Amino acid sequence: MRGTSNGLQNNPASSVGPAAPRGTITVIAGCMFSGKTTELFRRLAEFSLPSILVFKHVIDQRYRADAVVSHDGEEWPAIQIASADEIMDHLRPGIEVIAVDEAHFFDAELVDVTRGLADRGVTVITTSLDRDSWGRPFAVAERLGAMADESIVRHAVCAECGVLADRTQRFAPIIDGNMVGGPESYEARCQACWVPPPTPPPDDTLPKGSAAP
Ligand SMILES: [Zn+2]
Repeated sequence: MRGTSNGLQNNPASSVGPAAPRGTITVIAGCMFSGKTTELFRRLAEFSLPSILVFKHVIDQRYRADAVVSHDGEEWPAIQIASADEIMDHLRPGIEVIAVDEAHFFDAELVDVTRGLADRGVTVITTSLDRDSWGRPFAVAERLGAMADESIVRHAVCAECGVLADRTQRFAPIIDGNMVGGPESYEARCQACWVPPPTPPPDDTLPKGSAAP
């Protein structure tokens, strides 16, 4: 009754156009103690809380099982999953941002899931170690970095000499291929100060779930 020009309004929403715009993929990589998780939190703070889901691998039990915790003690609630396809089970309307912490714990399926999320318009942010304890690149980190819209490599400070560090030094022994030990078992090192563990590395493709640094 009170309206005017009935039926004459333009309706841009009905015009032909693409579905939701593609979401962006951001990869935050680097060695341990390089501030990857802090950078993740800084980026998540730009979005509204209900639109964010944060995931971590069940194998990652450092600090807290149900939260991602930075080395300086900040934390964010997280959902534990055993494989990347479980992320899709949690997707619901209103979720705009998916974060995956310590992506190197996941296998290559995470690459496909990340691409699928971005195609649906979801912003994906991952953190990942770029190298394992032997200095070998993590395949999943490389592939995520290759398809990322933004790829950030963080550095730490070498615990030995104080220059820029890009390696993770492991101290705890490796028993039966078991990479036990928390952050106290590791240190950031530059290439000159870093030494590989005395134990030979496992096969050159890291089995799922054993991709601790
Ligand atoms: Zn050094």
